[in-house]
Amino acid sequence: MSTATQEYTRVAIVTGASRGIGKGIALRLAADGLDVVVADLADQKDPLDAVAEEIRGLGRKALTVSCDVSKEDEVQAMVVAAVSELGRLDVMVANAGVSLAGSVMDAEIEAWEKCWAVNIKGVLFCYKHAARQMVKQGTGGRIIGAISSHVSARPTFNHPLPGASSVCGQRGYANVGAYCISKAAVRSLTQTTALELREHNITVNAYGPGAIDTAMVANPLDEVHGAGYFVKQLLKIPEGVRTGQPSDVANVVSFLVSPQSHFVTGQTLCVDDGIHFT
Ligand code: NAP
Repeated sequence: MSTATQEYTRVAIVTGASRGIGKGIALRLAADGLDVVVADLADQKDPLDAVAEEIRGLGRKALTVSCDVSKEDEVQAMVVAAVSELGRLDVMVANAGVSLAGSVMDAEIEAWEKCWAVNIKGVLFCYKHAARQMVKQGTGGRIIGAISSHVSARPTFNHPLPGASSVCGQRGYANVGAYCISKAAVRSLTQTTALELREHNITVNAYGPGAIDTAMVANPLDEVHGAGYFVKQLLKIPEGVRTGQPSDVANVVSFLVSPQSHFVTGQTLCVDDGIHFT
């Protein structure tokens, strides 16, 4: 992506965009002047439509796409829809992800593979098909993935998560192996893809959120103690670390998407109030 004046409106895809961090990123990119394809699972159609309406309210074009990122044909179709409806693809934010807790000794491979299907294969498919389209266009691009600065504490978890207080993509933590592996894979994939796409002026980076106030980490105890309380207790996050909002992550993605970030590639930027230092 050159920093020269563009004669077209850039188009972004954001996966997992019906709520949480994905929604925050989609709205921020629209405010930045991009047209946005918002994608999520089919059962998220109503909230996804509402996000698209908010984007149109900001004066940008929006398209909603039902897409399970773990299915390559659906990811490919999403990219085709973006190009046929909005004309091109300049930015891919592979945000959709799921969490899973459980020890190595109790590992049920079907569950671990389900986590990897979304968090690894889903990101790979998004990177692959976005890259193909961007290379074909010949005008560079931005590809961005989601790592993690911790693991989710969704109430469905039936395991404690001792020690999982830092970037799960940077090192392993007890009882969150499936998730740590998946985020480490995204970090590595981001580096590999960055090297492969450098000659095409496509940067590839990732963000690593800390405790962000979304459905993924919500717990009834937060109503008493404040957003993010439960997950920070569970993960032994040091006292004083704040809970962020999706907009805090979106601000960083906004920079990574901007032409000014052209000299940054292969990086994982932690957005976590200082939980993890790289
Ligand atoms: P969220 O509130 O759970 O939103 C994620 C969205 O992705 C949901 O709408 C979810 O739909 C969707 N999704 C799940 N599987 C999908 C699939 N196969 N294909 C397409 N969409 C799918 O999560 P979030 O907190 O915004 O997190 C976004 C990203 O940031 C994730 O990659 C997560 O791992 C990462 N992250 C979040 C935090 C945090 O504190 N919130 C911290 C570190 C990393 P369903 O609800 O129907 O499954």
